[in-house]
Amino acid sequence: MIRQVLVCTGKVLPDKSDVNKQEAREHLVSGNCLYLTPDLYVRLDNLVREHAGMPLEVFDLDERRSGVLEPMDWANCSPAGSDRYRRSSEKVSAEITAIEIANKIPLDEIRSARRLELDLVRDIPLELFYEWLVWHEIHHSVHDDPVVAAGLDNCVHPEIKSAGDRIKIMQAMELEADRASFNRLFPESTLKAGTPAGIKKVRSIEPYLVLLHEIRAKRGIKRK
Ligand SMILES: [Zn+2]
Repeated sequence: MIRQVLVCTGKVLPDKSDVNKQEAREHLVSGNCLYLTPDLYVRLDNLVREHAGMPLEVFDLDERRSGVLEPMDWANCSPAGSDRYRRSSEKVSAEITAIEIANKIPLDEIRSARRLELDLVRDIPLELFYEWLVWHEIHHSVHDDPVVAAGLDNCVHPEIKSAGDRIKIMQAMELEADRASFNRLFPESTLKAGTPAGIKKVRSIEPYLVLLHEIRAKRGIKRK
């Protein structure tokens, strides 16, 4: 099991023991997938409720992918329709705001994922991968990124003048959420892209972090 301590601040502290890390890995990994376990779900749900003020929902990856979900969509923080509410035998649908995560994540997708600065295999230990993913979504959620992104689709931000600007703002959101989630796990470490081309790309996106903060400020979204 993962030896982590959920303290009153909500911060999850990873155990430093290699033996326990190995146990955690064996417990979470089966076949070609990383699995969300019941114990881990409880800890992460507490984290999401404390830091984002909403529940953590789990979706079945295979079921969702029979629909429209793209590969590597392992989580999201958009308002979700839910039909889990029932009044006697009648299903009652309601829209709830929740962070959603997949019940499992294929390991080959983790290996082949391309992030702007993060190398998910090098930088995020597998036993902390779900926690990193949840912190990433918490960051999006508390900064109202789904709403800002919807505004980009509907061209409501006058600061965004071109399709290129729109892509860079979306990349800035991802860059920031990756940095924030990494810093939650490893507050003493700093991320850096692994290649000169990667560093150059990050530098081209960083000015858009300023624009992103301006858009949030106009919406009354405070930086946390
Ligand atoms: Zn994201």
